[in-house]
Amino acid sequence: MLGPPGAGKGTQALKLAEKLGVPQISTGDLFRSNITRGTELGLEAKHYLDAGDLVPSDLTNALVEKRLDEADAADGFILDGYPRSVEQAEALTRMLGARNTKLDAVLEFRVCEEELLNRLKDRGRADDTEEVIRNRMKVYRDETAPLLEYYGDAVRTVDAVGSPDEVFARALHSLGR
Ligand code: ADP
Repeated sequence: MLGPPGAGKGTQALKLAEKLGVPQISTGDLFRSNITRGTELGLEAKHYLDAGDLVPSDLTNALVEKRLDEADAADGFILDGYPRSVEQAEALTRMLGARNTKLDAVLEFRVCEEELLNRLKDRGRADDTEEVIRNRMKVYRDETAPLLEYYGDAVRTVDAVGSPDEVFARALHSLGR
């Protein structure tokens, strides 16, 4: 699932995971839970999340690779917030190839920037201050948006302005479900 911060990827990933009976793997949630539990990974990741910068890819890729090998991901999974750069996408392609599998689809959730800023200000997560939001938007444009080209024809674009249920219906439609 691709989309800028505030596009609603997390909400849609959960709904889709429930519908398809596969786990939702959110790198943002994994980092936040490591921070809360005070693990070594959490300590390393915290200042990147606080600044709205990407956590270095070696840490992130290792985290995802380990998660993919948990039993519940054997029959499929939804990746929310990963990959977030071409470097990560290349690593993911290798991980999936090594496991004889591939992505079925790439969903892009599209929302105009004005709507995004409104949503994020209402959400009030620790990294939702104006300056950090601005940086996360920039990181999305510079690092993540190039993935749309990397994935090319696999990308299905979903209009993410509307109620969660409306957006979910569009996402299912784009997947032919
Ligand atoms: P949002 O999409 O609203 O920005 P996320 O929970 O997906 O929220 O991400 C929050 C933060 O977690 C990011 O700003 C970044 O610091 C870190 N993060 C999440 N996923 C990745 C990733 N794939 N690579 C590097 N950092 C990540």
